[in-house]
Amino acid sequence: MRFGIFCTLVLLALSFAPVTRAQSPIVVESQSVEMDFPDAMRFVLRASSVAPIQLARVTVWQRGVALGSRYTPAFTPKENISVSFNWNFQAFSSGGYLPPGTHGEYTWHLEDSAGNSYDTPRQSYIVQDKTKNWRILANKDVRVSWYKGSDVFGEAIFGRAIVAREFFARELEIENVEPLEIFVYADTREFFEALPPFSAEWTGGRMFPEYGVIMMNIAPENVEWGLRATSHELSHAILHSKIRGTIGQLAMPHWVDEGLAVYNETDDHAPDEHFDEAFTDAVRRNTLIPLRALQQRFPDSSDQAQLAYGQSYSVVKFMIDQYGREKFAALLNAYQQGVPGDTALRQVYGFTQDELENSWRTSLGVPLREISSARLPTIAPRPTYEVSSSLNNTPAPTVEPTRVSVVQSPPPDAPTPAPSQSVPANALCGAVLALGGLVTFSFLKRRRAFSGGQD
Ligand SMILES: [Zn+2]
Repeated sequence: MRFGIFCTLVLLALSFAPVTRAQSPIVVESQSVEMDFPDAMRFVLRASSVAPIQLARVTVWQRGVALGSRYTPAFTPKENISVSFNWNFQAFSSGGYLPPGTHGEYTWHLEDSAGNSYDTPRQSYIVQDKTKNWRILANKDVRVSWYKGSDVFGEAIFGRAIVAREFFARELEIENVEPLEIFVYADTREFFEALPPFSAEWTGGRMFPEYGVIMMNIAPENVEWGLRATSHELSHAILHSKIRGTIGQLAMPHWVDEGLAVYNETDDHAPDEHFDEAFTDAVRRNTLIPLRALQQRFPDSSDQAQLAYGQSYSVVKFMIDQYGREKFAALLNAYQQGVPGDTALRQVYGFTQDELENSWRTSLGVPLREISSARLPTIAPRPTYEVSSSLNNTPAPTVEPTRVSVVQSPPPDAPTPAPSQSVPANALCGAVLALGGLVTFSFLKRRRAFSGGQD
C-alpha cells in the first residue's frame, strides 16, 4: 500500500517535472495538446536554452499509420520560447482530419544557435470530441461511446459490437484485432459536423480502418437499424484487420467490401430494405451499374449509392450461394496477399470479373452486358477523405511545414455536398465480410432525414 502511494507520488512528480536531458542545455518547460474537435488540436511547447532556440519541429504519428507528419511552426528565436502548432482537422495542409478516438504520439525536435539539439520523448495523445457528454461502455476489445438514449440503448450497441467482432474474427481467422472505438452520434447535424469535410450526404456510418474507429449516426429510437449498422461496420473493421496494409486494400474491389458488409448485417443475409428498392428497379429497367465502375468507390448521388450497395450485396450473395463460402474465403485470402481483382477471381473461381458479372446478370434475368472495357462508364477517382482507407494516398510535398505521411487532400474545387430535400436512404458504410449468422433481430424500416454513408 505504502509502496503504491510512493510510486504514485513519484509518477506525479515525474509528470510535472521539466523534461531535460543531461547532455543538452535545452530544457522543455512544458508541453501539451489542447483538443478542440472538430476544429483543431494544438501542440504547445515552452522551452529554454543557453542560446536562442531557432528551430522547433513537431512530428506527429497516429496508431495504425506507419509514417508521421512533420511541421515546423514559425516563431522568433529566443532563449525562452513558447511555440505551438495548430493541427487543423478541416485543412489538409495543416494536419487534416482525424476521427475522435484516434490514438497517437508526438515528439518535438529543438535546436539552438549554439548547435545544441534535443528531442523530447514521445508523448501520447487521443483525439477527443469534448462537445458531447459521452457515456461509455468498454472492455479490452471494444469501447462504445454515446450521449443520447438510455443505458439500454448503449448496452444494445455494445453487445452487438462484441458479438459481431468475435463472430467475424472467428470466421475470418483473425487473432489479433486492434481495439475498436465506436462513437454513436444521435443527431444528423452533429454527426456531419464530426465527420471529415466533403462526406457524402448519404453517410450513416463510417469506419476508419487505419485508426480502428467507427462513427455512426443512430437515433435512440432507431436501435433496430443501429444494430444492423453496427454489424455492418464491425464487418468492415474485421475484414480490414485481415487485409491490413495498402496492398490488400488496393487488391480488394470496393463492391466486395461493401457487398459483404450488407450481407453480414443480419443473420439470414436478407436484403437491406433501404437498398433493395433501387436495386429491384434497376434490374427491371436494365440500369445496373457495371461492376468495374464500383471497384474503387461508390457514386456520390444518394440514389446511385443505394443501387451500388444493393447490387454489391446481390453479387456477393450470388457468389456465396452459387460457389460456397470456402471459395469466397479463398478470394479474401487472395486479396490479403495482394492479388488484385481479376487475377484473384481467376485464381480462385476460374473466371474474370466481367464473366462473373454476366453470370450474375443471367441469374437475375437481365440481358448480358457487352464486355468492352473501353466503353464502360467509370467513376473518376476523387481524392477526398470519404474512403477512409488509404486507397488514394499520394505523397505530399516535402517543403516545410510538411507532412511526412500522406492523407489525400480534397481538391480545391471539390463541391460540398448540397443538402438534399429528398430522403436519401441510409447507408452504412464501411466494409467487411462474412459469412454467417449473427444474432437474430428484426428489421425495422428506417427512414433517415438525411443520409447514409460509406466507408
Ligand atoms: Zn459499408
